Amino acid sequence: MTDTESHSDIRDAVRKLCAQFPGPYWRALDRDRAYPTEFVKTLTQQGWLSVLIPEAYGGAGLGISAACAVLEEIHRSGCNGAACHAQMYTMGTLLRHGSEDQKQRYLPKIASGELRLQAFGVTEPTSGTDTTRIQTFAKRQGDTYIVNGYKIWISRAEHSDLMVLLCRTSPRDDSAKPSDGMSVLLVDMRTAKRNGLTIKPVRTMLNHATTELFFDNLEVPAENLIGKEGQGFKYIIDGMNAERILIAAECIGDGRFFVDRASAYAKDRSVFGRPIGENQGVQFPIARAHVGVTSASLMVDHAAQLFEAGKPCGSEANMAKLTASEASWFAADVCIQTHGGFGFAEEYDIERKFRETRLYQVAPISTNLILSHVATHVLGMPKSF
Ligand SMILES: Cc1cc2nc3c(=O)[nH]c(=O)nc-3n(C[C@H](O)[C@H](O)[C@H](O)COP(=O)(O)OP(=O)(O)OC[C@H]3O[C@@H](n4cnc5c(N)ncnc54)[C@H](O)[C@@H]3O)c2cc1C
Repeated sequence: MTDTESHSDIRDAVRKLCAQFPGPYWRALDRDRAYPTEFVKTLTQQGWLSVLIPEAYGGAGLGISAACAVLEEIHRSGCNGAACHAQMYTMGTLLRHGSEDQKQRYLPKIASGELRLQAFGVTEPTSGTDTTRIQTFAKRQGDTYIVNGYKIWISRAEHSDLMVLLCRTSPRDDSAKPSDGMSVLLVDMRTAKRNGLTIKPVRTMLNHATTELFFDNLEVPAENLIGKEGQGFKYIIDGMNAERILIAAECIGDGRFFVDRASAYAKDRSVFGRPIGENQGVQFPIARAHVGVTSASLMVDHAAQLFEAGKPCGSEANMAKLTASEASWFAADVCIQTHGGFGFAEEYDIERKFRETRLYQVAPISTNLILSHVATHVLGMPKSF
């Protein structure tokens, strides 16, 4: 079965939903850097953001390949799942490592959309990808953690009721391993905003609702600690495979969007008395883009299958993200080139998607860090850091 045939019911339904949110909707938001509230509300109401939550907690209890199908179709339709994709997978930290009480308290409301768990706070300006050097610190005082620090690039924080936050609970130098001494707190953004959390939007080249967060003696109840104190880094790493596979599926959707648009335009646009697509100089790059996206899609399927079977899939998830993000970026470039000047016109939606898909070579993990993982963990070469 090819990727486009799998989960065909889901794909059809998501395509229909996306048809209600055509290019002009996204263009207007893009101009104002505004959040796609109606789109996210509709996805939530139709249950698409809770497919990974087990039925016992009110979700659909489907596997990651179903979630991939949802996100791929959103992106192939010209929409943008980055506005809400974290609602699908951030709950995994809670599901895998939270207490039964926490799961009962939060997961059914996340599944229904009553609670938005869209924010995931890891990155800091001074530590960058070197996560064990984060400095945001949560100091335990009785039944409360007092949080101080600074995070950057925390997406959707203004549109989330809860945030999964990684912080230090003991200094790096006091820990046996650099990755020890970090903990995960579930922060209630609704109360935090009035009690020590300041959120500042960061304007970027794409419409992504990303922010900086400042913590000034923010009090978080100790009962909001997920899992064991000091073990948080492992919990965050655990969730990264799902994130990478799902974002790779978004890249596949973007890649297919660009190939669809480029091949349609190449057939339609006539210059020198014939369709530009009759020229092999125009055809071949589009064909190559299709080959790249199709191949990357198989890697995404492979990683998703391993994930669903509960098998180790860290390297495959990373490789899926790398190949898919490069395939979508190549397709984006080809699509612009095929459209000539019109590729730069807002009304074609291509320049918007071009900006959106570029992100995925940097976030949630940059290409070099994936190559470093493959070089050292898969190929056994010496570590450089
Ligand atoms: C729009 C946007 C949204 C984001 N959303 C979130 C979010 O919701 N939550 C969150 O926690 N984070 C988020 N991020 C952060 C994102 O995960 C990081 O930007 C990304 O992981 C790269 O980290 P960095 O920016 O600190 O780059 P750095 O770590 O500073 O690296 C800069 C460059 O140097 C390269 N580099 C660094 N070290 C090495 C090395 N040893 N060898 C080779 N190359 C190296 C990297 O590959 C990268 O290209 C977001 C970022 C963006 C731009």
